[in-house]
Amino acid sequence: MAPPRSPADRFRTKVDTSGPISLVRGVLGPCHQWTGSTNAGGYGTFWAGRTVKAHRFAYERVLGPIPDGLDVDHLCRNRACVRPSHLRAVTHRENILASANHVARRARVTACPAGHAYDEANTYRAPNGTRKCRACKRDRTRALRAEQRDAQLAPVEPIRPRTTTPERTAA
Ligand SMILES: [Zn+2]
Ligand SMILES: [Zn+2]
Repeated sequence: MAPPRSPADRFRTKVDTSGPISLVRGVLGPCHQWTGSTNAGGYGTFWAGRTVKAHRFAYERVLGPIPDGLDVDHLCRNRACVRPSHLRAVTHRENILASANHVARRARVTACPAGHAYDEANTYRAPNGTRKCRACKRDRTRALRAEQRDAQLAPVEPIRPRTTTPERTAA
């Protein structure tokens, strides 16, 4: 394989653009799942001269510098997601509140999106503590194998050049 060229090129090779579909209302499209290293909190990490959080790198590449003092929040609640449209810069307080809301909402849900019960036999916990459906996992594993074969041939989504006006989501 040819040597990697730039941080952005190396970054792209570690992103799976056919990640999970977010269950959060209003979050469009699949997550772009980080397949590189992650830290103890479940956030992707990336070497760009120093170790940076992958989602913060993605945000700055596409949306511009993160305003001083702001956190980058995952609208999709998936910490390993680096899809710029799933990210927004918020105050630390807003970020904490969004997480707490999400946890409360998820606790009221007793079945997976496909209707399988979250009972003891069918439920396992992701590293971040969220409940996962075993029946769906079996289905996904099969689908993923097929997708991975396709993805090897699919073009990656281009990162927009910095000369265009960055789209910012309201914090
Ligand atoms: Zn996402
Ligand atoms: Zn299920």
